[in-house]
Amino acid sequence: MFKTKNFEWGGIDCSKLAEEFGTPLYVYDEEIIKSRCREIREKFLERWENTWACYASKAFSTKAIARLILNEGLGIDAISLGEIHTALSAGFPAEKIELHGNAKSYDEIFESVKYGIGRIIVDSEDELNLISEISKAQGKITKILLRISPGVKAHTHDYISTGHTGSKFGFPIESEMLKNAVKNAILNKNIDLMGLHFHVGSQLFESEDHIFALKKIVKLMSDLKRDFDFETREINFGGGFGAVINPKLPHVPLEVFTDSMMELLTQECKINNLKRPRAIIEPGRWIVSESGITIYKVEVVKKLPEVTYIAVDGGMADNPRFELYNAKYEAVLINNPDGEIYIPENNSKVSIVGKCCESGDILIEDAKLPKVKRGDLIALYNTGAYTFSMASNYNRLLRPAVVFVNKGNAKLVVRRQTIDDLLSCDL
Ligand code: PLP
Repeated sequence: MFKTKNFEWGGIDCSKLAEEFGTPLYVYDEEIIKSRCREIREKFLERWENTWACYASKAFSTKAIARLILNEGLGIDAISLGEIHTALSAGFPAEKIELHGNAKSYDEIFESVKYGIGRIIVDSEDELNLISEISKAQGKITKILLRISPGVKAHTHDYISTGHTGSKFGFPIESEMLKNAVKNAILNKNIDLMGLHFHVGSQLFESEDHIFALKKIVKLMSDLKRDFDFETREINFGGGFGAVINPKLPHVPLEVFTDSMMELLTQECKINNLKRPRAIIEPGRWIVSESGITIYKVEVVKKLPEVTYIAVDGGMADNPRFELYNAKYEAVLINNPDGEIYIPENNSKVSIVGKCCESGDILIEDAKLPKVKRGDLIALYNTGAYTFSMASNYNRLLRPAVVFVNKGNAKLVVRRQTIDDLLSCDL
């Protein structure tokens, strides 16, 4: 009988990957990541002078991706000592790392100042005081940006909107708190206030929210020049550029965001008689999400009148994004990628669920797949961001391995956790 070709990723049959490395398995096509980095170079760094780009490593942080990003000529945005050390251990120079976070610890600031981390993006007055104290004690001048909460509600899920009024991140744009921070930073000998930062939210497909925020930021730049004679030398637009749900859809070109922001910034600076500051972006998801898939083995198919459950050998422990903010995915049946979609006789839906002890442990609520049976392999698309990095050991499940694939070759970059790993911190 005619056998259709199995689903491939990075030129490799995914059933072979599952056989060699086990499941669940995170698989990244390196070529896709490299092409996103190339796009950043060509469409942003080379098109616009005085620009810089960092990869927001919270999306996916391992030594392998840090090495790849370094080779591609970008910087890295880190949020913890864990992310900083991952980048440093991959050979990243400290000055190409920037530190973020709304609740930075003493140790995180102390070590960042000690290593000479490129920028600290300051989120609060308490943090500014601590950076000042630590920098003075170490005899250093620390370069900072102030994170501004521009009061823009991004068109995305509430939990991944970050620049709205009342957000836990940054200094509210029209606040005494911000004015005081600017004043204190300018007067401080151990601090070099380079400029401003904003990040409106994640998984956006149009530049509207970025533009709205940027207009407010340029007005702020103008006010700071007038009130404090402060010249903004850098402005960081954050990330938030969206990733598409399946590889048949074209990815969102970078210029959708960067061209409109750069045009606005250039024009507004001219009108307001300001020197155009260095412009920085820090996308995470847009660089890695579409390159990643997760392969699962089907353990159980349970047909109920209301719903057919496809229960797999992973779930919310390796990907909690449905539970966190209702993230949507699509899947493919690896041994029959183009098969006819199965619809139960009563038109009920088919849900892909995990093996954790929560009814909310759902990967896809309404999946469109051919008929699936126990032992089949399925892959979820677009799982390269915020899955491995958000994974847990819930139910004492072991964290999956990570494999990079490239034109028919596979390379294990993070090995699967073992029971010994799991028990190694227990005393
Ligand atoms: N920069 C900052 C400050 C962020 O908080 C985030 C995400 O939370 C990012 C960049 C990256 O966002 P994304 O992965 O949507 O590009």
